[in-house]
Amino acid sequence: MTLNIVKFPDKTLRNKAKPVAELDETVLKQLDDMAETMYNAPGVGLAAPQVGISKRLIVMDVSSEGEPKKLIKLINPEIIEYYGEESGEEGCLSLPGEYAEVKRAEKIIYRAMDENGQEYEEEASGLIARVIQHEVDHLDGVLFIDKLSSLKRDMIKKRIKKRIIQGDY
Ligand SMILES: [Zn+2]
Repeated sequence: MTLNIVKFPDKTLRNKAKPVAELDETVLKQLDDMAETMYNAPGVGLAAPQVGISKRLIVMDVSSEGEPKKLIKLINPEIIEYYGEESGEEGCLSLPGEYAEVKRAEKIIYRAMDENGQEYEEEASGLIARVIQHEVDHLDGVLFIDKLSSLKRDMIKKRIKKRIIQGDY
């Protein structure tokens, strides 16, 4: 089932999501629905708060077009180490059509649970590391525009306001 994507400036995007206490059927179904919603958008990552679910859940797929799909589901993800710094362009399904250069750690070590309830720790770099940092931010109510200079952030906010009035956002 495709879910409705919550868009900025909706306040629910600012809430801190709760950890998943039990990996039950409801959570597994929510992860499946999130994946369907992400592919349908299309996007490379989606966090539960973006579809109005206040749980620490992320789905992502950074495979290139033409490559086999590589869906990753993260439950209660946590970034435990950050290395280096790298600038890269980011967009967000909750701010459709808006993009900006964002500074992120180049490499991270993260901990999460997979859909079988298995906890693991892994290193990630490049695009995967960027997407995980972007999506984990969503779980804490943080958006990529928060990482920009106030000048750039205000520019995007103004443009969105205008687009809402024009009905193309
Ligand atoms: Zn996003």
